[in-house]
Amino acid sequence: MTLFEESLSESCRPREECGVFGIYGHEDAARVTFFGLFALQHRGQESAGIVVSDGCNVFEHKGMGLASGVFKESILQKLTGSLAIGHVRYSTTGSSTISNAQPFLVHVGEEYYALGHNGNIVNAQSLRSELESRGSIFQSTMDSEVIIHLMAPHLKRGLEKALSIALQQVEGAYSMVMLTRDKIIAARDPRGFRPLALGKLNGGWVVASETCAFDLVGAEYIRDVEPGEIIIIDAQGCKSLKPFPIMKHCHCIFELIYFARPDSQIFGQNVYLCRKRLGRELAREYRPDVDLVMPFPDSGSYAAIGYAEESGIPFEMGMIRNHYIGRTFIQPTQPMRDFAVRVKLNPVKPLLEGKKVLIVEDSIIRGTTSRNRVKHLKGIGIKELHMVISCPPTRFPCPYGIDFSSKGELIATKKEDEKAIAEFIGLDSLHYLTVDGMVKATGMPKECFCMACYTGDYPIAPPEKIDKFCMELK
Ligand code: 5GP
Ligand code: MG
Repeated sequence: MTLFEESLSESCRPREECGVFGIYGHEDAARVTFFGLFALQHRGQESAGIVVSDGCNVFEHKGMGLASGVFKESILQKLTGSLAIGHVRYSTTGSSTISNAQPFLVHVGEEYYALGHNGNIVNAQSLRSELESRGSIFQSTMDSEVIIHLMAPHLKRGLEKALSIALQQVEGAYSMVMLTRDKIIAARDPRGFRPLALGKLNGGWVVASETCAFDLVGAEYIRDVEPGEIIIIDAQGCKSLKPFPIMKHCHCIFELIYFARPDSQIFGQNVYLCRKRLGRELAREYRPDVDLVMPFPDSGSYAAIGYAEESGIPFEMGMIRNHYIGRTFIQPTQPMRDFAVRVKLNPVKPLLEGKKVLIVEDSIIRGTTSRNRVKHLKGIGIKELHMVISCPPTRFPCPYGIDFSSKGELIATKKEDEKAIAEFIGLDSLHYLTVDGMVKATGMPKECFCMACYTGDYPIAPPEKIDKFCMELK
């Protein structure tokens, strides 16, 4: 990928994590899984994979890129069977190679085990070193592979026992699906960092990272897989195990703010409506004297609608998005200034000219996206440019599955205050939603969230590197 393409795909920005899907009891399980992955594509665009079983044989297909590019009709026709799991990935741990694409499939004894994981295992490194010293040979650099190795010695005692023993040693975030010849398994860590939902389709069962996948395949949402729950689905039905001690829930609040699709239902609420309430809270906290409110589409649009409703300030789509950019793009032969920014979003000049404008944005991570977009808005005669962000300043790295990484990458850590960030981006003013305002908008108790990226309060001790970084910061 050239530098230019990289800026287009915005891969230099924080990365989405992963999406998982599973289905039991459908004659065309792989095809349904493909559509499930299609709906979950926003959770990861680096690789896509499906593993399917016909009860006897297990088939897999994985590839780099979007689900629609990886799976063609001819491939889906070969993936026969009535149970399947699928995964879309954007690496959070492990590098971006095909060997790290999931589901991860292994053959142990007479059985196949396939695993698709969303999240990040915090103690993966130490578990891996320990396993390697005892002779385990790893096939990938993925953190999820440790789960299979931890299970292996206990499989003689049955899958339930082996999985419970393995997961009890794992610390961190996981919402995962597994497949054997005749079973589908769904498991969610006891803190419930990432979402995972359970549904029904024509008498069979489905699981997915987000309910938007159920809507596409025509499945009915039944309930969330509970934090700390393992669900085993086979010919006997759907069995629930709870092998962990009860723990305080730590739902990732950034799922509500940015990650999840607005038409999904996660952590017991609709994402779109929650984002609108975040916008409403913002309007209560900070209301500069402006003529119009506009989002950076699409991610900022929902909070912007809420802001406009609460404030009574007119809502406008001041920038128009081109949806057809794709991954590769023909480069202009001569250098065209800011081409990469313009190609995605273009301002509606007559609408903005001479106006005092308020932009509503969902998040600022590195600050470069906002900075480039604001730069693009300059020079069209906007009178004043203000910005509000529907979450607090992102100051701490996330060790639980979101790759907005280490020191130096977070603008809110690099700059001393909002004023300095506003200056960097090129704004007349900038306001971030407060932690209290954010929690209030969710309508849920503060205690049930992980907000470590805003507060630095990590519910599970983060790896040493992050720990050192935070100590310096505090
Ligand atoms: P940054 O401040 O890093 O330049 O980018 C912030 C922008 O990226 C916001 O528009 C926000 O919607 C979007 N964003 C926030 N988190 C992520 C992420 O994990 N992946 C991608 N692709 N965009 C993100
Ligand atoms: Mg955005």
